[in-house]
Amino acid sequence: MENNTGFTPENEIKIPPIYRIPPPIIQSINWLYNFFFPWWILYFIMAYLSYLFIQINSQIMLNFDLKLFSFIWLKNFFFLFLFAGGIHWWLYIRKNQTLDYKYYAKWPTENNSKFLFKNQVKDNMFWSIVSGCTIWTAFESYVLWLQATGGVTVYLWNEKPLYLLLCTILMPFIGGVHFYIIHRILHIPIIYKIAHQLHHRNINTGPWSGISMHPIEHIFYFSIIILWAFVPADPFVVVLTGIWFGVGPAQSHAGFNKLVLFKTKTLEFADHFHHLHHKHFELNYGNIYAPIDPIFKTFHNGKISPKKK
Ligand SMILES: [Zn+2]
Ligand SMILES: [Zn+2]
Repeated sequence: MENNTGFTPENEIKIPPIYRIPPPIIQSINWLYNFFFPWWILYFIMAYLSYLFIQINSQIMLNFDLKLFSFIWLKNFFFLFLFAGGIHWWLYIRKNQTLDYKYYAKWPTENNSKFLFKNQVKDNMFWSIVSGCTIWTAFESYVLWLQATGGVTVYLWNEKPLYLLLCTILMPFIGGVHFYIIHRILHIPIIYKIAHQLHHRNINTGPWSGISMHPIEHIFYFSIIILWAFVPADPFVVVLTGIWFGVGPAQSHAGFNKLVLFKTKTLEFADHFHHLHHKHFELNYGNIYAPIDPIFKTFHNGKISPKKK
């Protein structure tokens, strides 16, 4: 199925049924099911392993210092490298499904001077690991330290299981609103020029493009973790937020609309909604979980684009 234009999904992007009033029950359950399975479960597992890891040495959480920072950085680097690197290896090195379901029917550019080291993948890895992982870690270790030292109330799972479950479920939606707001700010011309254009160099995105951003953008973007410095939760909710926003973009930017498994089965994979943002720039600023774009008339459903200003 190799062609020059790449893959365009057949179906238009729809606002999730849960936002209709009243929400259609069956469709909403179906939508939520597809939201949680399988990807959300995978992020949950990564967060749970992170949670176990930070308990290896709980003493380390008591001082906000380089030791704590390095400990959390290594954990975050491990999951980022495993997930983004794993997807990259599977789809871009092994080329397991060639260009099938790829939005652009071409591989990342090499020898292009707009990228660091003249290489898109190396450029993306550099910004993701050196800046992204570091700023993500700074926010996360600060909140974990606050929680460990009584700077913020911590609820335990045996005390408030429903409340904490609600925190984990609402996090992507609240994060979606936060992302829409900071993303609009990042598109203010001067800020775009200084910071956000670095992410937008990637038209033909890959897993490492996900958090390949300028440090200023990383500060905006990962500031969502600070939510838990004000809202009582527990360390699991904090590390889950880190995984969702630190590791998740490797999936949304992977460049392939579907993942082919066992030759015939396919799974929904990269985010078509955000792909359209990389393609057209001035639309789809948020994500589909918290559809703010339709309210501000910046929504593109993949078929008909909103009128140009
Ligand atoms: Zn992006
Ligand atoms: Zn943008």
